[in-house]
Amino acid sequence: MSTGKKVILIILLTTISFLVISNDSQAQDKLEPTITVRILETTDLHANMLAYDYKNRKGTVEFGLARTASLIKDARREQPNTLLFDVGDALVGNALGEYVSKSPMMIMDTHPVYSVMNTLHYDAATLGNHEFNYGLNFLIRSLRGADFPYVNANIYVDDHNKYDADDLNYFNPYTIVEKEFLDSTGKKHQIKVGVIGFITPIAAEWDKEAFYGKLKIKNIKETAEYFVPIMKSKGADIIVALAHTGMESDMGLKQKKGNSVYALSKVKGIDAILYGHTHSLFPSKDRFTNKEGMNLEAGTIHGTATVQAGYWGNHLGIIDLKLVRENKGWDVVNSHSYVKSIFRTVNDKKIPVVPSDRLIEKMMEGYHREVLGYMKRKN
Ligand SMILES: [Zn+2]
Repeated sequence: MSTGKKVILIILLTTISFLVISNDSQAQDKLEPTITVRILETTDLHANMLAYDYKNRKGTVEFGLARTASLIKDARREQPNTLLFDVGDALVGNALGEYVSKSPMMIMDTHPVYSVMNTLHYDAATLGNHEFNYGLNFLIRSLRGADFPYVNANIYVDDHNKYDADDLNYFNPYTIVEKEFLDSTGKKHQIKVGVIGFITPIAAEWDKEAFYGKLKIKNIKETAEYFVPIMKSKGADIIVALAHTGMESDMGLKQKKGNSVYALSKVKGIDAILYGHTHSLFPSKDRFTNKEGMNLEAGTIHGTATVQAGYWGNHLGIIDLKLVRENKGWDVVNSHSYVKSIFRTVNDKKIPVVPSDRLIEKMMEGYHREVLGYMKRKN
């Protein structure tokens, strides 16, 4: 064989083996459909529904769920398999929250924060420490207006005995949301998403009136270790933890161990952690030192997908999970967590990235006028 023919033969053989390999991986793709699930997070909204700054009495581009709502709609357009969660401190923190707490019409009406959140179709939420600021009665009355489930696993009724085994949860500890998701081949599947909620035990110390002698808060990590296997046994394909606590435990907390997101990320079986409380961002290179076990590119801690979406709706938290079929259910094989801001800064000027949602503006019009009137009367 001449050298020229040999070269041609080698090229031919290489091409054939390449084709065989690529066909092979295509065939495997056909055998193994994947599902991408997009999890969206808001947290620490503090009643900021509109793009309006009540403190300085002017419109703002820097916060307000009306603008985050546009990011939520974009994220849903890009990826039909989505879930939306809120991680607490939704009701209290601005003039609107205060006005509603003092308004007698609340007995009949839906809390305006929930009127807005209901239109965005949240899948579930958990409570923040500020939810207890106006007392338990106000909280329970407000929660009736939310047409999505609230979960918290570590607040218990204080039964004034020393036995743990007979303790009762005050809220539903977890829920299992069934969603129909499309796989990579366009086929529909029922996926069971287990959602569990936690709150920092400091809430009991900060809001003594709501908690003292009535409710107690248990260790986050220990509570998670108790409930996650139960959720798995009830068929949860994936487990999402909504944690109203910081990356580190609160300063001044008596029991620091096990009450941080960092500790929670070590619990086996949790696939995604959405957290809040400290008003920071995760993943973020500017604000975070890379701790042991953190991957700021993927947005994971000890391999668990994790996100924190800032505060007042200034960011939307996003986790994309990739699932493959495993025995009876589905397993997470890959994840990417990131945050999206509602504005960007150009030459020190804040420019909106998305418009404020017209429907939310319309819904809030009446309340907004009443809040402005209330503020005038107060001064
Ligand atoms: Zn907060």
